[in-house]
Amino acid sequence: MRFAITGASRGIGRATALRLAAPGSELALHYHTHSAEAEEVERRVVQRGATAVRLAADLSRTGEVHRFSEELLRRWSSIDGLVLNAGVYPRAPFDRISTDEFESCFQTNVFGPAQLASELLPALRRSAHGASIVFVSSVLAFTGSTRGAHYASAKAALVGLARSLARELAPTIRVNVVAPGSIDTAILAGDSPERRRDRERTIPLGRIGRADEVAEAVAFLLSPGASYVTGTTLHVNGGVLPA
Ligand code: NAD
Repeated sequence: MRFAITGASRGIGRATALRLAAPGSELALHYHTHSAEAEEVERRVVQRGATAVRLAADLSRTGEVHRFSEELLRRWSSIDGLVLNAGVYPRAPFDRISTDEFESCFQTNVFGPAQLASELLPALRRSAHGASIVFVSSVLAFTGSTRGAHYASAKAALVGLARSLARELAPTIRVNVVAPGSIDTAILAGDSPERRRDRERTIPLGRIGRADEVAEAVAFLLSPGASYVTGTTLHVNGGVLPA
């Protein structure tokens, strides 16, 4: 099985790559600037019996997304799973978010993944197993976010995009969303200890989640076990009820 994962050098993308690595699987590991970390992920997935290719691209730039797709399509004629995980989490009060910042947030979190899915469609359609796309959204798409209106609305846009593609690409390609809650990755690294305690207090399971717990959900949606699941959102948030 061939899986392409964006943002695979760290966090949820890295955990997903490790989870999907198995004898016989082929992984395309996209990364942006963390080349040493991406190399380390490649080493780990190869140790698990998979083969891997590492490809760098800034997904906020249309030309780079296109170059990435072309490179991947040159190497692979078919793709079985596409995980659109790379994203940025900017934070600011609504009245301090400039139009440029709004646009930049949408560029990386929505337009980049949409362009990538579109350009890789020919290879996804050639999957012998029935391909699957998983978008990584966020619980904030459902709850809203104070100091993150651009992020929450971009992540909500991904849900609409996935539901639309689930209809449009059926029955050949399944399309779903994983919506993580608070997960222990670099994205939360700026939290103060008090902020972290505040987060934990609001989570019924009483703790921040782990990247590998999100990777399990992604792996399920990519697997034959999810063969009748499309257009849905799998929430991985410790019980924080989405609106
Ligand atoms: P992370 O910061 O470790 O990972 C983000 C990834 O996106 C990195 O690999 C980074 O290189 C990549 N990326 C960022 N900007 C990019 C660009 N311009 N071009 C290409 N790649 C770029 O954090 P993470 O928590 O692993 O985040 C993964 C996804 O999960 C993101 O989409 C994030 O919004 C989402 N998410 C995370 C949490 C959380 O609490 N950690 C919660 C909800 C959703």
